[in-house]
Amino acid sequence: MVENINTKRVAKRYYRKKNTLFSLLDKIKLWPSRTGRLHGLKTIELKGEIATLTTHCGETYSIRNSRNSRAARWLRNKFYSCTCSKCRIPDWKLEKYGQTFFSRAYGSFLKKSTREEYYAP
Ligand SMILES: [Zn+2]
Repeated sequence: MVENINTKRVAKRYYRKKNTLFSLLDKIKLWPSRTGRLHGLKTIELKGEIATLTTHCGETYSIRNSRNSRAARWLRNKFYSCTCSKCRIPDWKLEKYGQTFFSRAYGSFLKKSTREEYYAP
């Protein structure tokens, strides 16, 4: 019998809502643009309070590290209408994201990182 890889279970993961936007982006590597398109992140470059995101399709965005911004909310709520065809986000990544949940009372604080600057304040 051939095993169907689509039925392979993806482990659920939980992150705290308190996590900063930069730390979530660093972990999830997906960016919900204002038009409702989900992009794959290639690089995140920090300049003080501002991060410059570069997507796989070559778009760049300058963002602030806010927990309550549109992007942070959309990322937590998995609010997007389509995925970017140029970014070619792999299925496993979307599956992993689909099994990622955000909770006020439960989950990882995402503090153990070598890129500490993402996690302040
Ligand atoms: Zn894209």
